[in-house]
Amino acid sequence: MPAAHVLSPEVIESAMRRALALAERGPAGNENPQVGCVILDAAGDTVAEGWHQGAGTAHAEAMALALLPAGLDPATLTAVVTLEPCNHTGRTGPCAVALRTARIGAVAFGLSDTGEKSSGGGETLRAAGVTVTGSILEDEVRAFLAPWLARQGGDARG
Ligand SMILES: [Zn+2]
Repeated sequence: MPAAHVLSPEVIESAMRRALALAERGPAGNENPQVGCVILDAAGDTVAEGWHQGAGTAHAEAMALALLPAGLDPATLTAVVTLEPCNHTGRTGPCAVALRTARIGAVAFGLSDTGEKSSGGGETLRAAGVTVTGSILEDEVRAFLAPWLARQGGDARG
Protein backbone atom coordinates (compact mmCIF):
# COMPACT_ATOMS: atom_id res chain seq x y z
CA MET A 1 0.00 0.00 0.00
CA PRO A 2 1.53 3.35 -0.99
CA ALA A 3 2.25 5.98 1.62
CA ALA A 4 -0.37 8.69 2.04
CA HIS A 5 1.81 11.46 0.71
CA VAL A 6 2.03 9.98 -2.80
CA LEU A 7 -1.51 11.19 -3.56
CA SER A 8 -1.38 13.31 -6.70
CA PRO A 9 -1.86 17.09 -6.57
CA GLU A 10 -5.04 16.64 -8.61
CA VAL A 11 -6.51 14.33 -5.96
CA ILE A 12 -5.52 16.71 -3.18
CA GLU A 13 -6.99 19.72 -5.00
CA SER A 14 -10.23 17.88 -5.69
CA ALA A 15 -10.49 17.03 -1.99
CA MET A 16 -9.75 20.67 -1.12
CA ARG A 17 -12.68 21.81 -3.28
CA ARG A 18 -14.87 19.32 -1.44
CA ALA A 19 -13.52 20.64 1.88
CA LEU A 20 -14.45 24.18 0.82
CA ALA A 21 -17.98 22.99 0.02
CA LEU A 22 -18.16 21.39 3.46
CA ALA A 23 -16.87 24.58 5.07
CA GLU A 24 -19.85 26.45 3.59
CA ARG A 25 -22.15 24.36 5.79
CA GLY A 26 -20.78 26.14 8.84
CA PRO A 27 -22.22 29.42 10.06
CA ALA A 28 -20.94 32.53 8.29
CA GLY A 29 -20.31 35.61 10.40
CA ASN A 30 -19.19 33.47 13.33
CA GLU A 31 -16.21 34.44 15.47
CA ASN A 32 -14.53 31.25 14.20
CA PRO A 33 -13.71 30.64 10.54
CA GLN A 34 -15.71 28.32 8.31
CA VAL A 35 -13.44 25.29 7.88
CA GLY A 36 -13.86 22.00 6.06
CA CYS A 37 -11.87 18.76 6.26
CA VAL A 38 -11.78 15.65 4.09
CA ILE A 39 -9.80 12.55 5.04
CA LEU A 40 -8.56 10.43 2.12
CA ASP A 41 -7.26 6.89 2.13
CA ALA A 42 -4.16 5.77 0.24
CA ALA A 43 -6.24 5.32 -2.92
CA GLY A 44 -7.48 8.90 -2.70
CA ASP A 45 -11.00 7.89 -1.72
CA THR A 46 -12.85 9.89 0.94
CA VAL A 47 -13.22 8.01 4.22
CA ALA A 48 -14.46 10.85 6.48
CA GLU A 49 -15.60 14.47 6.24
CA GLY A 50 -16.06 17.25 8.74
CA TRP A 51 -16.80 20.94 9.00
CA HIS A 52 -16.79 23.50 11.75
CA GLN A 53 -20.30 24.15 13.01
CA GLY A 54 -19.56 27.25 15.06
CA ALA A 55 -17.64 28.49 18.07
CA GLY A 56 -17.53 26.03 20.93
CA THR A 57 -18.23 22.98 18.75
CA ALA A 58 -15.73 20.46 17.37
CA HIS A 59 -13.42 21.82 14.72
CA ALA A 60 -13.63 20.35 11.20
CA GLU A 61 -10.62 18.09 11.75
CA ALA A 62 -11.96 16.75 15.05
CA MET A 63 -15.34 16.03 13.48
CA ALA A 64 -13.74 14.14 10.57
CA LEU A 65 -11.46 12.17 12.91
CA ALA A 66 -14.48 11.19 15.01
CA LEU A 67 -16.22 9.87 11.90
CA LEU A 68 -13.27 7.76 10.68
CA PRO A 69 -14.32 4.16 10.10
CA ALA A 70 -12.56 1.62 12.32
CA GLY A 71 -9.85 -0.60 10.95
CA LEU A 72 -7.99 1.90 8.79
CA ASP A 73 -4.23 2.34 9.16
CA PRO A 74 -4.00 6.05 10.04
CA ALA A 75 -0.49 6.28 8.58
CA THR A 76 -1.99 5.74 5.11
CA LEU A 77 -4.51 8.57 5.51
CA THR A 78 -4.28 12.17 4.35
CA ALA A 79 -6.30 14.93 6.00
CA VAL A 80 -7.13 17.79 3.61
CA VAL A 81 -8.12 20.92 5.54
CA THR A 82 -9.01 24.37 4.22
CA LEU A 83 -7.17 26.18 7.04
CA GLU A 84 -3.92 25.14 8.75
CA PRO A 85 -4.86 22.98 11.74
CA CYS A 86 -4.97 25.11 14.89
CA ASN A 87 -2.22 24.77 17.44
CA HIS A 88 -3.82 26.28 20.53
CA THR A 89 -6.26 25.15 23.16
CA GLY A 90 -9.39 27.26 23.17
CA ARG A 91 -12.79 25.87 24.06
CA THR A 92 -11.72 22.77 22.14
CA GLY A 93 -8.29 21.10 21.98
CA PRO A 94 -5.80 21.91 19.24
CA CYS A 95 -6.45 20.10 15.97
CA ALA A 96 -2.73 19.70 15.29
CA VAL A 97 -2.50 17.58 18.44
CA ALA A 98 -5.66 15.65 17.56
CA LEU A 99 -4.24 14.79 14.12
CA ARG A 100 -0.89 13.86 15.66
CA THR A 101 -2.53 11.70 18.32
CA ALA A 102 -4.60 9.96 15.64
CA ARG A 103 -1.29 9.24 13.83
CA ILE A 104 -2.59 10.58 10.50
CA GLY A 105 0.19 10.13 7.91
CA ALA A 106 -0.18 13.34 5.96
CA VAL A 107 -1.93 16.70 6.22
CA ALA A 108 -2.55 19.11 3.33
CA PHE A 109 -3.99 22.53 4.10
CA GLY A 110 -5.00 25.59 2.12
CA LEU A 111 -4.39 28.80 4.00
CA SER A 112 -1.77 29.21 6.73
CA ASP A 113 -3.12 30.23 10.12
CA THR A 114 -1.24 33.37 11.09
CA GLY A 115 -3.12 33.98 14.33
CA GLU A 116 -0.81 34.78 17.23
CA LYS A 117 -2.21 32.02 19.40
CA SER A 118 -3.36 29.48 16.84
CA SER A 119 -0.53 29.40 14.29
CA GLY A 120 2.18 26.76 14.17
CA GLY A 121 -0.03 23.71 13.65
CA GLY A 122 1.87 22.72 10.53
CA GLU A 123 5.17 22.84 12.40
CA THR A 124 3.74 20.83 15.28
CA LEU A 125 2.71 18.13 12.84
CA ARG A 126 5.99 18.19 10.89
CA ALA A 127 7.90 17.80 14.14
CA ALA A 128 5.86 14.68 14.81
CA GLY A 129 6.84 13.18 11.46
CA VAL A 130 3.61 13.99 9.62
CA THR A 131 3.98 14.89 5.94
CA VAL A 132 2.61 18.44 5.76
CA THR A 133 1.83 20.39 2.59
CA GLY A 134 0.46 23.93 2.67
CA SER A 135 -0.90 26.46 0.18
CA ILE A 136 -3.27 24.02 -1.56
CA LEU A 137 -5.70 26.21 -3.59
CA GLU A 138 -4.63 28.98 -1.22
CA ASP A 139 -6.15 31.77 -3.33
CA GLU A 140 -9.56 30.07 -3.41
CA VAL A 141 -9.49 29.45 0.33
CA ARG A 142 -8.41 33.04 1.01
CA ALA A 143 -11.24 34.33 -1.17
CA PHE A 144 -13.74 32.07 0.60
CA LEU A 145 -12.57 33.28 4.01
CA ALA A 146 -12.23 36.92 2.97
CA PRO A 147 -15.14 38.20 5.12
CA TRP A 148 -13.79 36.42 8.18
CA LEU A 149 -10.19 37.46 7.44
CA ALA A 150 -11.35 41.07 7.16
CA ARG A 151 -12.94 40.81 10.60
CA GLN A 152 -9.61 39.54 11.95
CA GLY A 153 -7.80 42.59 10.61
CA GLY A 154 -6.26 40.61 7.77
CA ASP A 155 -4.82 37.79 9.85
CA ALA A 156 -6.17 34.28 10.10
CA ARG A 157 -7.02 33.65 13.72
CA GLY A 158 -8.69 30.44 14.72
ZN1 LIG B 1 -8.87 23.44 15.21
